[in-house]
Amino acid sequence: MPSLAIIGSGPAGWTAAIYAARANLAPVLFAGEQTGGQLMTTTEVENFPGFAEGIAGPALMAAMQAQAERFGTVVKAGCVVRSLRRQADGLELAWDDLYSLDGSGGQQRFDAVIVATGASARYLGLPGEAEFLDGSGRKQGLSGCAVCDGAMPMYRDQPLAVVGGGDSACEEALFLTKYASRVHLIHRRDALRASAIMAQRVLEHPSIEMVWNSTLSAYHTDDQGRMQAVTLRDTVTGAERDLAVRGVFMGIGHQPNTAFLKDSGVPLDEAGYLQVSDGCRTAVPGLFAAGDVRDSVYRQAITAAGMGCMAALEAGRYLDEL
Ligand code: NAP
Repeated sequence: MPSLAIIGSGPAGWTAAIYAARANLAPVLFAGEQTGGQLMTTTEVENFPGFAEGIAGPALMAAMQAQAERFGTVVKAGCVVRSLRRQADGLELAWDDLYSLDGSGGQQRFDAVIVATGASARYLGLPGEAEFLDGSGRKQGLSGCAVCDGAMPMYRDQPLAVVGGGDSACEEALFLTKYASRVHLIHRRDALRASAIMAQRVLEHPSIEMVWNSTLSAYHTDDQGRMQAVTLRDTVTGAERDLAVRGVFMGIGHQPNTAFLKDSGVPLDEAGYLQVSDGCRTAVPGLFAAGDVRDSVYRQAITAAGMGCMAALEAGRYLDEL
């Protein structure tokens, strides 16, 4: 029987697994370091169709995993794929197993592979940042996605901040004006990098205030861990001041998780995203891509899930043709 691997356990990976398992392809899914991917750091998902009251990110991912396993997906939890190489007879994966005593992993050849490793929002690396993002709820008020989190009640009619000066930051700031009392767009320089039209919309918007030449140097929370303020550092004078905000949204770019593909020969674009044609096919036969690892524009759970479905259908056709 032909073999199929899926790398990644976000909405794209699980959806690919559901479709492939129901097609009797017995997929093996490498779940990576954090099973569930980016949604594990989101508290409430309110825009995934079918959940009128919203659903917690981890609960949505657990439900997708259960559905994939119900149809026979073999899940390799804690297995992080380190390399993918083309061989004469297929694609060889090598991985580390974080749950094995010595961290060693394995190696296996597959006829087809779906890459659904996602992209990671970039953060500043400030002290205490990890506690906002570990899904525990110990600290709240930091997000890498305004469209995902901006409509949450905690941000309604509150002053919010967006960090960055590119199209993502501008898009986040404009989106948040629907909910916030005021949006502070904090940029480290005195000119936006964003496209002219986005920059114009931001600069002319009455609810957006530009904070030029500034970076964040600290987050401040109340005794329940809720964001209350940030410290801003002027990049020209070095002076510091505090700004009261109830939410901070990072818009400093994303990093597609494609480093493990460097020896695969598969084309990546300038920013490291997988290049695809004909739906979800890459230039390497048998290698397919789905979700944020190939999408720098939409980056939504529902679009990733849709691409996971497409990749599984195309992988199935490819395996039939073999
Ligand atoms: P980007 O264009 O690389 O912009 C990143 C921004 O974050 C820059 O302004 C950068 O500042 C700032 N930044 C980076 N590291 C920082 C740090 N450590 N501290 C403070 N600021 C930092 O990324 P992007 O906005 O995500 O866009 C990526 C690509 O997707 C672009 O090609 C963009 O056009 C596209 N995109 C398009 C749309 C749309 O058309 N609707 C929406 C989103 C994204 P500097 O300017 O000083 O470097």
